[in-house]
Amino acid sequence: MKVRVLGLGVSGSFLAYLLASRGFVVEGYDLSKRYFKACGDAMALKELSNRVVRATESELSKPKGFSIMLEGEEVAYLSLKPPPWTIVNKEKLVEALREMAAAEGAVLKYGKSQGATLVDARGPFAARREELTNAVVIVAKTKWEPREVSLDLTLRRRGTYWVFPLDDDGRLVNLGVGFDSWRSAALLRQLAVKRFEKRFGRLEVIKSAAAPIALWRPIKLKEGSSFLVGEAAGFVGRLNGEGNRMALYSAAALAEALERGSGALQKYAQLTGRFANEVMASALLLDLLGSLPYAVAKEAITNAPKALWESWLRTELTFQRLLSLLPATAPSLFAKLRGRPRRWRPSLSY
Ligand SMILES: Cc1cc2nc3c(=O)[nH]c(=O)nc-3n(C[C@H](O)[C@H](O)[C@H](O)COP(=O)(O)OP(=O)(O)OC[C@H]3O[C@@H](n4cnc5c(N)ncnc54)[C@H](O)[C@@H]3O)c2cc1C
Repeated sequence: MKVRVLGLGVSGSFLAYLLASRGFVVEGYDLSKRYFKACGDAMALKELSNRVVRATESELSKPKGFSIMLEGEEVAYLSLKPPPWTIVNKEKLVEALREMAAAEGAVLKYGKSQGATLVDARGPFAARREELTNAVVIVAKTKWEPREVSLDLTLRRRGTYWVFPLDDDGRLVNLGVGFDSWRSAALLRQLAVKRFEKRFGRLEVIKSAAAPIALWRPIKLKEGSSFLVGEAAGFVGRLNGEGNRMALYSAAALAEALERGSGALQKYAQLTGRFANEVMASALLLDLLGSLPYAVAKEAITNAPKALWESWLRTELTFQRLLSLLPATAPSLFAKLRGRPRRWRPSLSY
């Protein structure tokens, strides 16, 4: 069977590799031979993502300490073993996956593609403007504990500032910010520089870039005759923009479903059900926080049990888990809910 994959980022390059190694005739297309997209480069570690990181030798640093902050003040600190994430050299990871796909016989082409696509793996670039938000990354030299991550939530601006280590000796960091609505890259960069200079002093910026995240895209597995995978299918956490692991897992699910032939869509839906659950739980939480009066949301975050932060960091926050943890988060939360959720619409289309 012949499969044309549009987009050779995390999901597309892995899918091309998996399908080619299973005997499919694979043609992959990307606009650019060199993969680059602004990213925090954190990869949630699960069985499959761990194997991919090892096979591509792309690990840079494995943080163990996680500081959760609210408006610049720490509300929880977690020291987690085994570490829930690793920081990767994502360009290296994607380029290695492309090489592995080519070695299995996939034909990869760069530039504009023509012809029917069976798989759309264009990540956020497959989304419509109103489904997107923007995030910015600044790579800078500073002094930082190389095993630590900081996630600073802002309710006022509705987003998260992060600090991720980028090396093992605490000199390079990935500083970033993303909000839940569209802002220009220039404005985001200005806000990030202001916030991080307040924290670190003058920054020695090495590079900075912005990219979209399909934060408001509904989960959709097929559009017309094309299957969607990775962020193009809506697989990205709504609270934290976590999409690398889901890109790999959805690619593996689609490869297995396509191999089955008939009933591929149902199989794909079944294999990705867990990720759809996680994504919708994160959308619910984001919207819940957004619809609460500031003081109540602040109370909820400040009093959240460590189990909630750990589930979040370990990417285990399903609907069921969230519902079991919410009452402990803020007893007054439900009493003070007002109005309907602001934007979230449960939307799954298979
Ligand atoms: C600033 C930022 C920080 C992030 N931080 C993290 C993080 O720390 N951890 C995490 O897990 N996730 C993070 N994410 C999300 C993560 O980057 C994505 O979810 C993940 O890359 C999605 O993989 P994908 O394969 O679906 O798409 P991508 O990796 O985006 O790949 C899409 C590919 O499609 C190609 N393409 C686009 N248009 C076309 C076209 N017309 N024709 C052919 N090819 C095309 C692109 O060139 C690209 O190679 C972040 C995102 C942003 C923007």
